[in-house]
Amino acid sequence: MPPPAGFDLDMTLIDSRRAIIASFARVAADTGVPIDAAAVDSRLGIKLEDELAFWFPAGQIPSAMRIYREHYVRLAGPLTTVLPGAAEALAAVRAAGARAVVITAKYETTARLSLDGAGLAADQLFADVHGPQKAAVLAGLRAAVYVGDTPADMAAAVQAGARAVGVTTGSFTGRDLVAAGADRVLASLADFPALYASLGRP
Ligand SMILES: [Mg+2]
Repeated sequence: MPPPAGFDLDMTLIDSRRAIIASFARVAADTGVPIDAAAVDSRLGIKLEDELAFWFPAGQIPSAMRIYREHYVRLAGPLTTVLPGAAEALAAVRAAGARAVVITAKYETTARLSLDGAGLAADQLFADVHGPQKAAVLAGLRAAVYVGDTPADMAAAVQAGARAVGVTTGSFTGRDLVAAGADRVLASLADFPALYASLGRP
């Protein structure tokens, strides 16, 4: 069986930007703590608790996480869309006989909700991991490739010895992704099946 292919979730397979920004706005409204949406947007892809740490003292983060998730589970359905080519990218991996694995900083419950809502199915899901934790998952899987939208995703792939494929559907440019180690940068996952076919069997 060929080695698995890993995919990030937010802004790689799904466009969750509106749901995330709206949920942070609700957290700000509920707590009275101002949260700058543009700053949140510039960091999309990090763990929820790490983003909240920019706005709340450590002791208030657990309650802010609960408030966020209450809003997110309600807003995710109406405000999340599947990114072009996502289903086809996962299908291309499966057609080659490999597993399509989703590796995300999202909490498991919201990750599953997001995949289901988008009509996407992962062969395996690793949730609540970011940066070097993603690298550890990729290395453990001996993944051939990791597809993501952030410099941290590219660094994780490089660290794990996987091909780093960047997509510019998130908050970062192709230049940002190449600087972090991307082997290839795609404007859209719609271009992934052709790239995946060209990677060849190891
Ligand atoms: Mg992402």
